[in-house]
Amino acid sequence: MVRPKGRGEERERGMASSEDRVQEDLLKIYGLLVARFGPLDWWPAESPFEVMVGAILTQNTAWTNVEKAIKELKAAQLLSPRAIQKVDIKRLRRLIRSSGYFNQKALKLKEFVRFFLAGPFFGSLERMKEMDTQALRERLLAVKGIGPETADSIILYALDQPIFVVDAYTRRAFSRLGFLPLGVGYEETQKFFTAHLPADVALYNDFHAQIVYLGKDYCRKKPVCGDCPLAGLDRCRVEAGTTETQRHRGQEEEEEGKKGREAKSRSERKRRKRGSG
Ligand code: SF4
Repeated sequence: MVRPKGRGEERERGMASSEDRVQEDLLKIYGLLVARFGPLDWWPAESPFEVMVGAILTQNTAWTNVEKAIKELKAAQLLSPRAIQKVDIKRLRRLIRSSGYFNQKALKLKEFVRFFLAGPFFGSLERMKEMDTQALRERLLAVKGIGPETADSIILYALDQPIFVVDAYTRRAFSRLGFLPLGVGYEETQKFFTAHLPADVALYNDFHAQIVYLGKDYCRKKPVCGDCPLAGLDRCRVEAGTTETQRHRGQEEEEEGKKGREAKSRSERKRRKRGSG
């Protein structure tokens, strides 16, 4: 079991820091999710390369559609970097059609295998693993069609390196839960989890999977709070029939007020300037 960082020492002094409290809250949430969904054992794939292909194909589509595409690639004996590099792109498009956006995704797969088979990796997972995680992330993000979620999924689930994968479900649930601001971005969300959780591959692996289940089953656009495993924490303030929390509305009002005050002071400055001119 993953223990919160530095807990023992703080406890001895009887003064848990706010950092530790966030960590404890996150681990409590993780525990509640595991208690509901069970360990999820991600990523569903037979090889790291299959994870990489799945991470690209799952962009903007349901996993069931990806499974069909991967099954087609396997049946055609094309689930290897060299085979994808060599196959005619029209055939590749046909085989991955079920995953949607198949024209773009065929190009993305071609770009990715070109990157993977070239130096410094030359198709070696080991060489990829040897690279500093952030340096590898930068390189992956430079590949056309690879965004942060895809890059991080490859690093965590194919290469077993500790990087926290974020998606729309994570941002939505954890802003509703009060940890992050409304409309928070990918990098900020990732930094939040990285700052408060131990860099543990198994924890990052399963926590992301649990959040996906939370987002799919409960913390939807229109949340189903009644039976949510996190409802007992009483952190979310969601009114029946609405999609936003009271806290979010408060933030929005505050933001509006701030914008209004800024606009007012800008026009005041302009007026004074005109008066003095
Ligand atoms: S209680 Fe509601 S808003 Fe909070 S995490 Fe669960 S579904 Fe989302």
